[in-house]
Amino acid sequence: TDTILSVENLDVSFQSYNGLIKAVRGVTFDLKKGETLAIVGESGSGKSVTAKSIMQLLPKKTTVINNGSIVYEGNDLLTYSKKEMEKIRGSEISMVFQDPMTSLNPTMKIGKQVMEGILKHKKISKKEAFVRAKELLELVGIPNAEERMKSYPHEFSGGMRQRVIIAMALASDPSVLIADEPTTALDVTIQAQILDLMKNIQKKTGTSILIITHDLGVVVNMAKRVAVMYAGQIVETGTLEEIFYDSKHPYTWGLMQSMPKLHQDRSVPLIPIAGSPPDVSKLHDGCPFAARCPYVMKVCHNHMPDQSTISGTHSVSCWLQDERAPHVEKPELGGN
Ligand code: SF4
Ligand code: MG
Repeated sequence: TDTILSVENLDVSFQSYNGLIKAVRGVTFDLKKGETLAIVGESGSGKSVTAKSIMQLLPKKTTVINNGSIVYEGNDLLTYSKKEMEKIRGSEISMVFQDPMTSLNPTMKIGKQVMEGILKHKKISKKEAFVRAKELLELVGIPNAEERMKSYPHEFSGGMRQRVIIAMALASDPSVLIADEPTTALDVTIQAQILDLMKNIQKKTGTSILIITHDLGVVVNMAKRVAVMYAGQIVETGTLEEIFYDSKHPYTWGLMQSMPKLHQDRSVPLIPIAGSPPDVSKLHDGCPFAARCPYVMKVCHNHMPDQSTISGTHSVSCWLQDERAPHVEKPELGGN
C-alpha cells in the first residue's frame, strides 16, 4: 500500500481530579508515503496530543488510550512495549517540536549532539558519525558546518537551532517526520526558510511529513492534504484545494475567513470565530461545534453527525450534509 501510518478511531483521555478528560476522540487519518499532511486546529484541539500519542510521549500515569490503533508499516504501535517503541522513536518516526532550545542540551557542543543522535541509531565509528553529522548540518543549510559543530546552542540563532533539530531528526533517515508547530517560535522570514528546508528534504529523502499547526500559512505552504481538528475530533479532511475552496464544515468556513488567498505565503493565526472552544471535560453527545456554530440545529446538540463522503479525498462530519437539513451556502470569504 502507499500508506505508511494509519491512525484509526483513536481516543485519548487524561485523568484529572474532575474525572477523565477526553482530549482526542475517534481520530482517524492516513499518512501516505512521501506526502505532507497537515493537522490544523486551535490550541487545545487535540492535535499535539494526537502527535504525541503516535510517538507515545504522553505521561503514562495519567494518559488513557482506550480505543483505536496507530498502525505503522503494518504494526499497531499501541501494542508495542516501551523498548520496541524506543526503537521506532527517532529512528523510523522522528519528531520536531516548536521550541528548539528545549530539545537541545545547552551544555553540549552542537556537533557532539548531532553525532550522539547518529550513534544512537547507527553502528558506525565516531569518525563516520562526524562525517555524517557534518553532512546533515550542510543538508539543513548550516553555513561552515564543520566550524559550527564546535559551537554551543546559545551561539546559534533560533532559526539555526531549528535547523540543527531537523538535522538531528533526520539522523536516522526516518520514514515519518512529525513536526509540531515547527516554526511557531520563529519570525516570518525564518519560518519560510525552515518550511522550504523541510520541503527540500522531503524531495531528497521521500520522508512523509505530518505537520501540526494552527497557522494556515504553514498549511498552504506545506500540505497536500489537510485534516481540520476541533475539540478533539477531526471534523473535515480533504486535499488542500478541497479544504480551501470547497470546505463543507462551518468551523472550516470560519477558519478560511481569516485566510486571504490560497498560495499566498504568510503567517495567518487562527482567531476568526466568535466564542471559545468548548471545555473538553464537559462535552456531551452532540456536535462539539454546536455552541459556536451559526447554523446549529436541534439535532446538533444531541447527536454527533456521521462522517459524510464528499469525494474520494474529502469527508466531513456535519448535520448540514443530511438530506433533511436546510441548504446552506458557504459564506463568501471575508475581504482582508
Ligand atoms: Fe454546526 Fe450542526 Fe454542523 Fe455541528 S453538526 S457544525 S452544529 S451544523
Ligand atoms: Mg500544541
